[in-house]
Amino acid sequence: MKKIAVIGAGPAGMAAAITAARNGAKVVVFERNDIAGKKLLLTGNGKCNFTNVDIHADCFSFEEGSFADSIIENMSVRDICAFFADMGVLSMERKGCLYPFTGQAHTIRDAMVQTMEQLGIEVIYNVCIGEISKDKEQFIVHMDNKFIYFDAVILACGGKAAPKTGSDGFGYRLARGFGHTVSRTYPVLVQLLSDAPHLKAISGVRCYANVSALVDDKKVASDYGELQLTDYGLSGIPVFHLSRFLSKEAEEGRDCVVAVDFMPQIGIDLLEQFLDKRLGDLKGYALKDFICGLVHSKLADYIINESGVCGETAVTPADKDMIFNLLTAMKNWKFHITGHKGFENAQVTKGGVLLDEINENMESKLVEGLFFAGEMTDVDADCGGYNLHWAWTSGIKAGETAAK
Ligand SMILES: Cc1cc2nc3c(=O)[nH]c(=O)nc-3n(C[C@H](O)[C@H](O)[C@H](O)COP(=O)(O)OP(=O)(O)OC[C@H]3O[C@@H](n4cnc5c(N)ncnc54)[C@H](O)[C@@H]3O)c2cc1C
Repeated sequence: MKKIAVIGAGPAGMAAAITAARNGAKVVVFERNDIAGKKLLLTGNGKCNFTNVDIHADCFSFEEGSFADSIIENMSVRDICAFFADMGVLSMERKGCLYPFTGQAHTIRDAMVQTMEQLGIEVIYNVCIGEISKDKEQFIVHMDNKFIYFDAVILACGGKAAPKTGSDGFGYRLARGFGHTVSRTYPVLVQLLSDAPHLKAISGVRCYANVSALVDDKKVASDYGELQLTDYGLSGIPVFHLSRFLSKEAEEGRDCVVAVDFMPQIGIDLLEQFLDKRLGDLKGYALKDFICGLVHSKLADYIINESGVCGETAVTPADKDMIFNLLTAMKNWKFHITGHKGFENAQVTKGGVLLDEINENMESKLVEGLFFAGEMTDVDADCGGYNLHWAWTSGIKAGETAAK
């Protein structure tokens, strides 16, 4: 019977351990926290969006030409749901996102812990593995003053995001110890910082908007969803999405901008028609009252102040061009991005162990018997269950092959 060590009891490590044990291996999991899946419990606001009906390689970032797309596409959503149904967890779908039927992340975590128990997997908590060596065919895991021997090792230590949950990049040392290259890491799915003036005045506004990321004036991504304006910059799911295209670029000092269309449902022609009618109906009303019907009142006040027009001015049909210009500005409002809110606030890590040095079975090309799974590798994805999908699929693949 093969003896396998899994380092890290996060989603990827637990998926790997369960699969290896189901394939006949004797498995020991080492976890530095006193519980398994600490980060998993936070996912999806405690509801755990664990995969998505629409899985395709475009939702992920990885090195071009790597094998990651085949792993992602060969293990379907149905396979992942079946993996959990086998542990007694049913799923439900909302807007394409899959959650456990209970709507509670701990259902998934608890089911995995219970399954590990049933399979006789030993989980050793409160131990941070700092050294693993290889002696001929055997791996030696150094734990306190003990040396424990294994036939294979699966590194599933996570990245650097949300370090309070146990993954603070420490695991990369283990990979480097075996000669692996770890690419530079950046926090993604994170809030963005802006130096736009008077952010305090519009802080607290939440609205549905189209947002686009521009790097050196070139549009690189866009999304629609609930935008949150804060005193430091921008937040909300569509901003998290854009952060995958701006965190690294902002750190590198490139010119990064988020352009916001605060009125995405109203095209320019429709806006013009609407203004014609309103100018007839509301002649003589104060400008601020006039445009408040179209945009959030804090934004209306802000844009009026910024443009130097008096909000108390009584509107006449002759002011149409001025009002039209004010409103069209709302369709392309540019926030200069200066950075991000760091790994402490990020959900995911961009960068990690290079896929170039790992084969399609998640095994190291440099050291036989060494495997990788999950966020530790240089793969990141969009919001919507994709990052956990990678954790499960890469973990299952590593566990399956390691046990052979
Ligand atoms: C707030 C938040 C919400 C999120 N929501 C979602 C969501 O809804 N859907 C989604 O798809 N993704 C979500 N994510 C991302 C998702 O949680 C991660 O992609 C996923 O947890 C990665 O799994 P992993 O097993 O690779 O790493 P981790 O979950 O980071 O687990 C790694 C484990 O290894 C342990 N460890 C590390 N080094 C050692 C060591 N040397 N010795 C022993 N143990 C070690 C750590 O303590 C940790 O328990 C969210 C993330 C956050 C922070």
